[in-house]
Amino acid sequence: MAKAKLVANKCDLCAERTNGVGPACIQMCPTDALRLVDSNQIESSIEKKRLQSALGLVNL
Ligand code: SF4
Repeated sequence: MAKAKLVANKCDLCAERTNGVGPACIQMCPTDALRLVDSNQIESSIEKKRLQSALGLVNL
C-alpha cells in the first residue's frame, strides 16, 4: 500500500491567486494584523519610528 507523501511547502504569497485579490491570509485576517508591503516601506516605517522616538514622540 502506497503511503501519502507529505511535503512542506514555503509560502509563495498565493502565487496562484492571479485575480488581484492578494494573499488569502491577508484577506482573511480578522484583526488586520497581516499586511503585504515592500521592503522600502518597512525601512521608511522603521526610520520614522526611530525619529519619533528620538524626539520623544513615541516610546519604542
Ligand atoms: S495564505 Fe498566506 S501563508 Fe499561505 S501561501 Fe498564501 S500568502 Fe502564504
